[in-house]
Amino acid sequence: MTASMREMREQAREYLGWESRAPKRYDIDGIVRDAWITGNGSEETWKAAVEKHFRRFMVGDWVRITVEVEDGFTEHHYGPIENFRKPDGNGYRRTVAKPYAAFIHPEHTRSHIVPLTALVEEIADFEVITEWSKVHEGGPQHNYGIYQCIGAHGPYPPPAEVMVIHKVSGRKKRFCVDCNTAEYRARFADEALHYQRNSRQTILELRANPELIVGPTAEPGRSWEETPADEYQSWADTFPWLVPAAAAAAYTEWCDQRTAVAA
Ligand SMILES: [Zn+2]
Repeated sequence: MTASMREMREQAREYLGWESRAPKRYDIDGIVRDAWITGNGSEETWKAAVEKHFRRFMVGDWVRITVEVEDGFTEHHYGPIENFRKPDGNGYRRTVAKPYAAFIHPEHTRSHIVPLTALVEEIADFEVITEWSKVHEGGPQHNYGIYQCIGAHGPYPPPAEVMVIHKVSGRKKRFCVDCNTAEYRARFADEALHYQRNSRQTILELRANPELIVGPTAEPGRSWEETPADEYQSWADTFPWLVPAAAAAAYTEWCDQRTAVAA
């Protein structure tokens, strides 16, 4: 007795489930064909078929593109895939196993048609911590040390369950599981983009002249005498990921010297 195509599809979905894979991200017919119809059904054949027929990107997936803007700045923009395109920019008339490009419409850019090879899964830009003790480390005393979800909950937000770290900036936000969505994470990354845009002038100045950050500074306790270097330094303390490399190195050296003198 040979299994029908329908049975084999069901079997393949079941196997994928056992391997904790989402069947919808796979071309089931392709797997059935390569693993069991033309293939010999061995473990290796199955593995190769599963790998080959994985759909890395699907419509609705949130992705990140890197956009080059003027003055050598690059920006990360996020949006969901709206549909897939051929190399000539036209849409496909039916579902295809290996689309060439995706059409996305990020909030912060004009629409783009981007080859799949240039897309990054948005989740790749974040680290998600789930251990309760780490999520609530240093939590607010007035709330028994428990951080609350910063999603849209009104006056009674539930406790945070995850801590999301934006890898580029190192900034952290805490959400409940339901609010840990691609959309919230993308908004979080957008905040870093806004800081980058607002700091544009400062970045250009420090790129052109890194030594500005280690110019004369006010004596401790005499903040009314604050100098431009003080301002650059407090900006650098707030947005360390935006400091141009040469200025960052100069500032680190300056701090080390100050520590050595004090010691
Ligand atoms: Zn929430």
